[in-house]
Amino acid sequence: MFVDQNLYKKAFEAYVRKGTPIELSIKQARPTTHYVWRTRNDGKVRSSHADREGQVFSWDDPPTGGHPGKDYNCRCTAEPYSAEISEFLRLSINGLGTKSGWSSTDFVNHYFSGGGRGVTLNQIGHSQKIISAFFDRRGEALKGQIASAARSTRGGSISYGFENTYDMTGVVFSISDTTIGGSFSGQSIEQNGIIELSGSLDLYLDDEFADPLDVGVEVDDYRPGSILYDNIHRPLSDYLRGRAGSPTGGQQRLGVRDGKPYAITGTWFGSVEGRIYTDPSRSQYTR
Ligand SMILES: [Zn+2]
Repeated sequence: MFVDQNLYKKAFEAYVRKGTPIELSIKQARPTTHYVWRTRNDGKVRSSHADREGQVFSWDDPPTGGHPGKDYNCRCTAEPYSAEISEFLRLSINGLGTKSGWSSTDFVNHYFSGGGRGVTLNQIGHSQKIISAFFDRRGEALKGQIASAARSTRGGSISYGFENTYDMTGVVFSISDTTIGGSFSGQSIEQNGIIELSGSLDLYLDDEFADPLDVGVEVDDYRPGSILYDNIHRPLSDYLRGRAGSPTGGQQRLGVRDGKPYAITGTWFGSVEGRIYTDPSRSQYTR
């Protein structure tokens, strides 16, 4: 039987601080000496806690900042842990960095002045955002698929590859229909209805910055006489020509084609660690 974790935690803290004895009923109901750190998994989790998702801690030895729920505004919880009955699966990616990323102006400037040279998300400082968004959308499903791959091998080598297209609009400027894929490869051992697994996870992203206005390529195809051409394209082009001191009425251009599309890519490496139920009907990690 599991006791309310907060009740035990409070009683334990009172014991540590003031020496107040822990009530016998609480002590007897104390489920475990350890717990699994659980976050809300919703992208608002501070990164130091996101790193703890699925990790096991001792009630007697709190990590920096204290047990779950202890830090300011922390919504994390402690799940009772025992080697026999608990399962967890943790995906982590290394070296995402925290530097602030390119602004939308930087993306557009590179289109006009970068000569088509590709950039990586690590270089332009957007790895953290994109990987968090990816895990928010795909993390749980990916855990389920890795777990299924581990169950189908029941010990030994596991490998699982994946790739999909994601609309990342609103996450990072201009990263819209983006291909993200990767692979997991690792080892597992099955014992007493539990599969322990660990291995490496790699991720990649492929995108292209091709059209800063999102209309330029199409606008160039409109012909004189069309509503868009006469009302938007030509007046704008004449205006730009006027500013540049060139006569109006020549070949119409908005200038958007003077830029060079460039590739936006990323590669990341990390790890997978977990302990899952062999029986999928007992498990939270299913495909
Ligand atoms: Zn937290």
